[in-house]
Amino acid sequence: MFKPLDISENEENKSTQPTDVEQVKCLIIGSGPAGYTAAIYAARANLAPVMYEGLQPGGQLTTTTEVENYPGYPEGVTGPVMMEDLKKQAERFGTDVRWGMATKADFSGGVHKVWIDDSKLIEAETVIIATGATAKYLGLPDEEKYAGGGVSACATCDGFFYRGKDVAVVGGGDTATEEAMYLAGLCKKVYLIVRRNELRASKVMVERTLNTKNIEILWKHQTKGLFGDGVVEGAHLVKNLGEEGEENVDIKIDGFFLGIGHKPNSDIFAEYLDTDEVGYINTISGTSKTKVPGIFACGDVQDSLYRQAVTAAGSGCMAAIDAERYLSEKNA
Ligand code: NDP
Repeated sequence: MFKPLDISENEENKSTQPTDVEQVKCLIIGSGPAGYTAAIYAARANLAPVMYEGLQPGGQLTTTTEVENYPGYPEGVTGPVMMEDLKKQAERFGTDVRWGMATKADFSGGVHKVWIDDSKLIEAETVIIATGATAKYLGLPDEEKYAGGGVSACATCDGFFYRGKDVAVVGGGDTATEEAMYLAGLCKKVYLIVRRNELRASKVMVERTLNTKNIEILWKHQTKGLFGDGVVEGAHLVKNLGEEGEENVDIKIDGFFLGIGHKPNSDIFAEYLDTDEVGYINTISGTSKTKVPGIFACGDVQDSLYRQAVTAAGSGCMAAIDAERYLSEKNA
């Protein structure tokens, strides 16, 4: 059924032609909860899935400390341990989990092509895209310095650890205002650090934020750095005073949350699939199917709304079932 590419030795083509071509029934790209759950289901359905883990094996959860809201772990579990468990479960049923990064795709023909690390070509009957999304950070060295020590890009994941404390959220869109509202229910005080003098969030979120007593909006403020002995104890901000210049402002906080948006990791597929304006892959409502038959998307790369480990896992299951049904119908 598969026709391997003609690999030319032509000098001109050398850099772009793969050195290695492999045909697979089911290729899974990405190794967060969506990818691993898809792998467990696909392996149990005899699809012999091959998974490429991507740049961050285990996905975003490996950057969180404790996961307490994933059903089945009454005592909680660390993100890395949970992802190791999911990996073992996927491998137990025969998933071929490999190190590597999908760097290019071509979904224009009957056989779907994905290049790994620009050198290996996978020709797949079905592709499950589970590449996730990456939270945007400000790019301050202190964000790295205090990673796991008070800096987070997920209020739902980490907010619980700041109960009764003061925290700050950066951003003025729906993500930031939702994070601020969530944290306001747990924390003593929430500073919302907004770089302009208006919010970009939807009207309803703007109203809710403005009407929440323990949220203080710091208009026209930007973060310059964080301070603290090993963990975050505060942030150095600067307030834009317009023609009058700038004013340095320090706030005391225990947690610093980023809410400046996520970037779905869909760039290499965007030419072939429909996405929204931010880049989230559009799937056919209630399914994991994209507009290209045989290509399925699950997890955060297609979900701007819920973005939880458990919803990602559920959509991974859907993708494997959709892939299995697609293959049964195709090969009937
Ligand atoms: P947005 O791009 O809408 O907002 C990003 C916010 O962060 C803006 O206020 C922006 O400021 C600010 N920002 C960006 N970069 C910096 C920076 N370097 N320093 C300081 N502030 C910065 O992203 P969201 O993630 O909030 O939303 C993305 C999309 O997802 C939207 O369409 C949103 O409606 C949707 N969404 C929907 C939800 C829902 O329906 N429940 C939940 C979350 C998101 P500025 O305004 O000055 O550019």
